[in-house]
Amino acid sequence: MIIVLKPEATESQIKHIVSKVKSLGLKPMISRGVERTIIGVIGEEDVLRVQPMEVFPGVEKVMPILAPYKLVSREFKPTDTVVTVDGVRIGGKRLVVMAGPCAVENYETLLSVARSTKKAGAAILRGGAFKPRTSPYSFQGLGEEGLKFLAEVKKRTGQPVITELMDLRDLELMERHADIIQIGARNMQNFDLLKEVGRSKKPVLLKRGMAATIKEWLLSAEYILQNGNFNVILCERGIRTFETETRFTLDMNAVPLIKSLSHLPIVVDPSHGTGRWGLVPSLAKAAVAAGADGLIIEVHPKPEEALSDGPQSMLPEKFARLMVDLKRVAKAVGREL
Ligand code: PEP
Ligand code: MN
Repeated sequence: MIIVLKPEATESQIKHIVSKVKSLGLKPMISRGVERTIIGVIGEEDVLRVQPMEVFPGVEKVMPILAPYKLVSREFKPTDTVVTVDGVRIGGKRLVVMAGPCAVENYETLLSVARSTKKAGAAILRGGAFKPRTSPYSFQGLGEEGLKFLAEVKKRTGQPVITELMDLRDLELMERHADIIQIGARNMQNFDLLKEVGRSKKPVLLKRGMAATIKEWLLSAEYILQNGNFNVILCERGIRTFETETRFTLDMNAVPLIKSLSHLPIVVDPSHGTGRWGLVPSLAKAAVAAGADGLIIEVHPKPEEALSDGPQSMLPEKFARLMVDLKRVAKAVGREL
């Protein structure tokens, strides 16, 4: 349920309402917009029948949130959420491109990709240290050493880094070395993991599960917000369909849909969404045109030798050319890059 305040509501009236909500055993979440303040109320809302909030000075109306997810909904917070990472704003007018290898393989390759993608305009470096591989015989990632390489490279280039967390036991390590914690498609409904990153102070990028509906995805995001972490970025990365020509089917519908249903920023991953580097530029441009707040793209200097996801990794020079095109698409839709 949300309590919509009058534009002229005073600070002391807001304080009074907040303390009343708390005294009823409910959790208030204040969202200050340009025009008015909204207080989202979480908990057993039945008590509000005994104590209607409409009577309090400063309250304009009280409305139920009809969607199953509450905190992530646009109703709860009408203004766009901007997640800030080391001064990089995700969800604002400027698009944010995250780029790097699928997996951290060694220090030199990571540094060279970081340098070239940064030069091309990527704001954030991606790279997995813990890899969720389909086969147990495939490269599983460098683990802690990979995280250290990411942190080292960050010191050299200044780019914030994003990397995937798969196991609750690695959270502390992640918090030490990463700037954004990625929850991968395969863990989108790992609810214990979601609750735990919800308690973390680090921004979280939540990828859509490959067989998850939009509703399930937003409910997973709700777990993170409900535990106190509002710095969540959603990532559309393709879903399973009957089509086998591409690795997944990138669901571009998700971009405008998420924008209408939620205040959270959404980025698109055309690398996993297609599984083919040759298709990445078109889908990247389409994502920007559709209103995405950014992209996450796999780049590798020698895709044929990559330890994971080579077929979908772009060469640095191809990535640089794509960035030039993306700037023009961004401009055409009123964004910057
Ligand atoms: C990745 O980003 O390398 C990855 C494993 O992504 P996803 O979880 O979307 O498959
Ligand atoms: Mn990958």
